[in-house]
Amino acid sequence: MSSDRPLPQGLRPETLAVRTALPPSQHGENSEGLFLTTAFLQPDAETSARKFTNSEDFTYGRTSTPTVRSFEARLAAMEGTEACVATATGMSAILLMIMGLLKAGDHVVCSRSVFGSTINLFAKEFGKFGVETTFVSQTDLGEWRAAVKPQTKLFFAETPTNPLLEVCDLRALADMAHEAGALLAVDNTFCSPALQRPAEFGADLVMHSGTKYLDGQGRVMSGALCGPSRLIKDVFGPVIRTAGMTLAPFNAWVVLKGMETLALRMKAQSENALAVARWLEQRPEVAKVHYPSLASHPQHELAMRQQGGQGGAVLSFEVKSGSSPEAARQAAFHVIDSTRLLSIATNLGDTKSIITHPGTTSHGRLTEAQRQAAGIGQGLIRLAVGLEHVDDITDDLLRGLSTLKPA
Ligand SMILES: *Cc1c(COP(=O)(O)O)cnc(C)c1O
Repeated sequence: MSSDRPLPQGLRPETLAVRTALPPSQHGENSEGLFLTTAFLQPDAETSARKFTNSEDFTYGRTSTPTVRSFEARLAAMEGTEACVATATGMSAILLMIMGLLKAGDHVVCSRSVFGSTINLFAKEFGKFGVETTFVSQTDLGEWRAAVKPQTKLFFAETPTNPLLEVCDLRALADMAHEAGALLAVDNTFCSPALQRPAEFGADLVMHSGTKYLDGQGRVMSGALCGPSRLIKDVFGPVIRTAGMTLAPFNAWVVLKGMETLALRMKAQSENALAVARWLEQRPEVAKVHYPSLASHPQHELAMRQQGGQGGAVLSFEVKSGSSPEAARQAAFHVIDSTRLLSIATNLGDTKSIITHPGTTSHGRLTEAQRQAAGIGQGLIRLAVGLEHVDDITDDLLRGLSTLKPA
């Protein structure tokens, strides 16, 4: 896109993901440039003074850089929101959101199944500044309604959740938040805009860890908040310029390129994940498989409606074992340790499939009773399915499953 040849209106999501960016520089580069600079030259002092009063102009790297601006334009176009502000990580996007929207005495209603650091940020870090958070069921709308108070300013949801892939009804939560005079913010990291666009269901803010599927190749950290200009530019703009959780241009450039292939990757990885989920459901060593595209998923129909008919790349399953947590952990560890291909790591959003034991990693700090209440047993294994051939993934899982000692 050059400034004298603006993009046509009404382009489809796949096109926006490839084409939306700032115009090229005077050199006419076809691939968006990487601008590594902390300061911007001004022609004279008067122009400099004017630019410092207008946040749209480039002045200093903490405020913005062209590469970050292209990232923001592209992600906003993909989410179907007016604007986007990029941040250094996913967690710093939530930090920016809380700093911009909330003050002491305000109240938040949040699913208790959201990302662990999100729970800590609301409950612990902002609890000490007098922001109160009530954690409620992912799926029981009655609990959300009962938690609302006169001071409720924000609903925060994530769907589907990690590691049990529970889905919440975004339209119902948006309506409930708005009736209460609150905003709905949705962590859309797992689905990405290729599958799910929360703003279409009434969400006011869409948050991302771009570290995951937007980059999609496990290279750099990044994050973002998408929403209306009156929030992104007027509320969050001044906060990020002051507080500085700015995305680095190099990381913005890597993710900008990642977004061009997002829809293709999400489709291929969802297909791989569904094939692995169906294979696991047939295995006698497996007690249960959690994956939204399976008819056995408790919110299957809602998930398919919200997620464009796709399940995403993450699934989890429970290995059959004796009744004790110890036996279950041994069985899960055996399956994990028997792999030779899958990456043993605690991450997701990569082209390389990753196998994780949530009970001793992401959810390792919970007590056994808290884990049981959350439905995360020691026999649970999470798989973030990548782009390897599906038969190589199932062969790798079979190494451990077929050699499990009978429970
Ligand atoms: C990883 C993740 C985050 C945090 O993102 P970072 O980029 O690691 O800060 C938040 N929410 C979800 C769902 C995630 O998977």
